[in-house]
Amino acid sequence: VKLVVGLGSCGIAAGGNKIVQAIEDEIAKRGLDVELEKTGCIGMCYLEPIVDVIDDKGNKTTYGRVTPEMVVDIFDRHIGKGEVLREHVVGGEGAGGSFLKKQVRIALRNCGIINPESIDDYINNNGYKAAEKALMEMSPEEVIDEMKVSGLRGRGGAGFPTWFKWNATRTAQGKPKYIVCNADEGDPGAFMDRSILEGDPHSVLEGMLIAGYAIGAEEGIIYVRAEYPLAIKRLEIAIEQAKERGMLGKDIMGTGFNFDIRIKAGAGAFVCGEETALIASLEGERGMPRLKPPFPAQSGYWGKPTNINNVETYANVPWIIFNGGKAFAAMGTEKSKGTKVFALAGKIKNGGLVEVPMGIPLRDVIYEIGGGIKDDKKIKGVQMGGPSGGCIPASLLDTPVDYESIVKTGAIMGSGGMIVMDETTCMVDMARFFLDFTQKESCGKCIHCRLGTKRMLEILERICAGNGKEEDLDLLEELAVKVKEGSLCGLGQTAPNPVLSTLKYFRDEYEAHIRDKK
Ligand code: SF4
Repeated sequence: VKLVVGLGSCGIAAGGNKIVQAIEDEIAKRGLDVELEKTGCIGMCYLEPIVDVIDDKGNKTTYGRVTPEMVVDIFDRHIGKGEVLREHVVGGEGAGGSFLKKQVRIALRNCGIINPESIDDYINNNGYKAAEKALMEMSPEEVIDEMKVSGLRGRGGAGFPTWFKWNATRTAQGKPKYIVCNADEGDPGAFMDRSILEGDPHSVLEGMLIAGYAIGAEEGIIYVRAEYPLAIKRLEIAIEQAKERGMLGKDIMGTGFNFDIRIKAGAGAFVCGEETALIASLEGERGMPRLKPPFPAQSGYWGKPTNINNVETYANVPWIIFNGGKAFAAMGTEKSKGTKVFALAGKIKNGGLVEVPMGIPLRDVIYEIGGGIKDDKKIKGVQMGGPSGGCIPASLLDTPVDYESIVKTGAIMGSGGMIVMDETTCMVDMARFFLDFTQKESCGKCIHCRLGTKRMLEILERICAGNGKEEDLDLLEELAVKVKEGSLCGLGQTAPNPVLSTLKYFRDEYEAHIRDKK
């Protein structure tokens, strides 16, 4: 019998380590031959701590919201008598069953299933087979062609075709070339990258290795925020193991190809998610965006050709190379292929991490997977794309979740944050919250972003405090347009989005604040 405990940050926060202790105590007390393993987050964060019981025939039963007392019950009844504790089962026909049903897990394929600290577990689940295929059977051009067939677009937010970036870096003049992984996830309510790094770090390493081969780079750097200590720890372990097994380092798999990866812990500035600011930070400078062009593919880290993708993008790569680009392109919509990972947060019953095929209606994500709104209240809207995104009102819940359709609503796909708001949420206060965030995170390089967001925030604060004036809404809109147009980087260009989208769909709430002076 094997017991597997979910020990992502969500599992640990819910008491996963106490469950491990309780299991160890029971094993010692009963002198049983029971194996104990850890895994990452399966996505059902709202049901943590989660424990899988896998019997000798490989049958798996998953228990949610496990307590130390329940552990004793699991040993007495399930392990001792073969009796399943039906009331605590999750997944399948149990609680949370619908959570997994509509999902298609590509980037999250191993999360919550394998031990993230075991390279053997990863290898036993087809790990490093894609790298073997790429390095031993394919030319770099063929790898890029396969990526083109897949239609994979960058999952960090902009949705730029991955193959195009790779090709631009490959054909750019200058050596050495670099592969960078952007793991500077900083949106409030977003935890896609953290969960992948904590649950399946080797998938990201393998994706970077394949990208390095395709581009002709020998060095990879993962820029990960220092607030993710568990992700960093598991990455360090994974890098060490990959080196020991010859998957990183010199002459990988006897092909003569050299590739190494190192970690750079970022100090947690939101703007460092912008690729040129990230490069500046990597070079030891203050993280401030630079003018584009030149793009990093031409002149990136130390002025050399650099390919930057985010965690989810790299995690998809081994699956695409192993299964073929066509298999990936068979999912999703015409222009948005494959799947996308979302972090479901806010006033939703089943908060957690989900991966769905592109094009699925937003309503299905919220109600069928997310289980609907907490306390069965009415939904008011969904903030997509974090502070750079916009609010999609309940009337547009049938919008398909793909790059093009989401943009039409005034929001953006972003990296995958989905914050659900119910009928009690004040949308003016919500816009104020996000603008407060971007205003504080502005690097200060351009006046429109530095001062424009500050003036906008002042207006929002006075409206929320009941001191709004008639002319405030026109002024807000005028400033929002100027900040968008006059800002250098994505942070400033998108900072007014939460304000603009709430003004578009919830103007009556702004007017009510001003009219009623509260
Ligand atoms: Fe800095 Fe804002 Fe200008 Fe971006 S838009 S460079 S964050 S001041």
